[in-house]
Amino acid sequence: MSTYYKTTDMKNIDKTKPVLVTGATGYVAGWLVKKLLDEGMTVHAAVRNPNKKNKIAHLEELAAQSKGTIKYFKSDLLDEGSYTEAMKDCEVVFHTASPFTSKYKDPQKDLIDPAVKGTQNVLETASATPSVKRVVVTSSCAAIYTDAVDCAKAPGGILTEEVWNTTSSLNYQPYSYSKTLAEKKAWDLADSQKQWDLITINPSLVMGPPLNPKSNTSESFSLLKQLADGTSKMGAPKLGMGVVDVRDVAEAHYQAAFTPDAKGRYITSAHNTNFFELGKVLLPKYGAKYPLPKKPLPKWLVMIVGPMLNKALTKKFIRNNMDIEWKADNSKIQNELGITFRPLKETMEDSLQVLIDQKII
Ligand code: NAP
Repeated sequence: MSTYYKTTDMKNIDKTKPVLVTGATGYVAGWLVKKLLDEGMTVHAAVRNPNKKNKIAHLEELAAQSKGTIKYFKSDLLDEGSYTEAMKDCEVVFHTASPFTSKYKDPQKDLIDPAVKGTQNVLETASATPSVKRVVVTSSCAAIYTDAVDCAKAPGGILTEEVWNTTSSLNYQPYSYSKTLAEKKAWDLADSQKQWDLITINPSLVMGPPLNPKSNTSESFSLLKQLADGTSKMGAPKLGMGVVDVRDVAEAHYQAAFTPDAKGRYITSAHNTNFFELGKVLLPKYGAKYPLPKKPLPKWLVMIVGPMLNKALTKKFIRNNMDIEWKADNSKIQNELGITFRPLKETMEDSLQVLIDQKII
C-alpha cells in the first residue's frame, strides 16, 4: 500500500485499437460509452446479458448516431476468465462494473464479492492480455471516507487523494467498504506487474441525466427520484455530501485513459454540498409543480423517523452525516486532467427533466 503511485513511463495509446468498458449497461458507463463512440472508437461492451434488449437499447442508439462501433461480450464479475475475449487487442480497460445499491440482503455476497473478486478477475485478465497498457478503475469517494464527519478528521480538515476510508465495515456502510477493498485490490495488482498502469477515478455522488432511465439500477437514480416523487415533500435532511455530474465523470474517465502522464487517484467531485441543497436548486424552475423539499428537516425528527423509513438511515449514520459539512479537494483532476465541472443547478435540472420527460415522476 505504500507505492500507490506508479512512475513507469506511459506509452501512447493507439486510439484505433478497441477499448473495453466493463458494466457498459450502467448509469456512469453509458456516458463514457457515448464519449468513446463520439470519438470514433471501437467499444467492447462487457455486459452480463447481451440479450437483454432493454439494458442495451440506449447503447445501440448511441452507436447508430456516432462514428464509433460497439461490440457486446457476455461477462460476469464473478465468472473467472469471462473478460478474456472482450479484452482481446484492447490497450485501455475501463473497469466500471460494481454493484451500487442499498437494496442488498447479504453485504458480503451482494456487494463485497462482486466488487473485490470482480476487480481481481478483470485486472488479472489485463495482466494476461499483452495489448493492455492502461487500466482506469471507477472507484469512489466512498474509498476515501464513510461519513461527512470523516472530512474534519482528515489532514487539513479536507479529503484528498492521500486519504483512505478506515471507518466502513461489513456491518456499517458496506458499499463504502466494498469500494475501499476493491480499490486496494486494484493498487496491489497494479504494483505486482509492470505491463499496465492504473488510474482510479473517485467520484462523489453522481447526478445528471441517465441515458437509460427506464432500466436504471444505480443508487444515484433512487436518490434523485426521492427528491421529486413526494418522498421529500415535508423536507430533506442536510446530509453532507459531494456531488458531480455524470457527464463530467465520463470525461474524467476519458482523460484519465488518454492523458499520458495521468497518475494515481483522482477525486472527481464538483460540489461540497448536502442532500437538501440538491432539491433546493430545483425550486425556482420546478418548485410550483413538483413536491420538492422546501426546507431542511430537523435532526431530532430524522433521528426518530429516519430508521423507520430507510434501513440506511441509522442513528449512527444520521449523527455522523447530518448538518455536517462535506469537504473534498478537487484540484488534482482540474490541474492534471483539465476537468471543469458543471454547475449544480444545471446537473440537477437536467436530471429532473429526464424523469419528467420519461413520465417517471
Ligand atoms: P449502475 O448503473 O447500477 O451500474 C453498475 C454496473 O455494474 C451495471 O452495468 C451492472 O450490470 C454491473 N454489474 C453489477 N454486478 C455485476 C456482476 N456481477 N457482473 C457484471 N457486471 C455487474 O451504477 P453506477 O452508478 O453507474 O455505478 C458504476 C460504477 O460507478 C460503480 O463502480 C460504482 O461503484 C461507481 N460509482 C458510482 C457513483 C454514483 O453516485 N453513481 C459514485 C461513485 C462511484 P447490470 O446492468 O447487468 O446489472
